[in-house]
Amino acid sequence: MSVVAPGPDVLARHLAIRPAWRCRACAAPWPCPPAKLRLRREYAHDHAGLAVYLCVLMHDAIADALRVGSGEVDPAEYFARFIGWTRPWPARAPRPTRAEATGASSPRPRP
Ligand SMILES: [Zn+2]
Repeated sequence: MSVVAPGPDVLARHLAIRPAWRCRACAAPWPCPPAKLRLRREYAHDHAGLAVYLCVLMHDAIADALRVGSGEVDPAEYFARFIGWTRPWPARAPRPTRAEATGASSPRPRP
């Protein structure tokens, strides 16, 4: 069995309905996973542009939540939902040794 990635037509259906900011296709809080996948593809070479675009949408979502009184607005939650996931995965770097971290010289290796 092979896994086929969803095509652009399927992903394009996952748009936000305002002022609830839920996906019109799957009803998940927007951006839902398919919407994130589409956005990652569209902005594959422009991480900063994606973050700026989503920042504008996050502000719109917060303004809508405050306007319609849909509950408390937690800025950290909105940030994680709209922007936090856009950060590229950092390459795993090896952790520095204690000597490297403190600047101490390491003991000489025994012959
Ligand atoms: Zn969706």
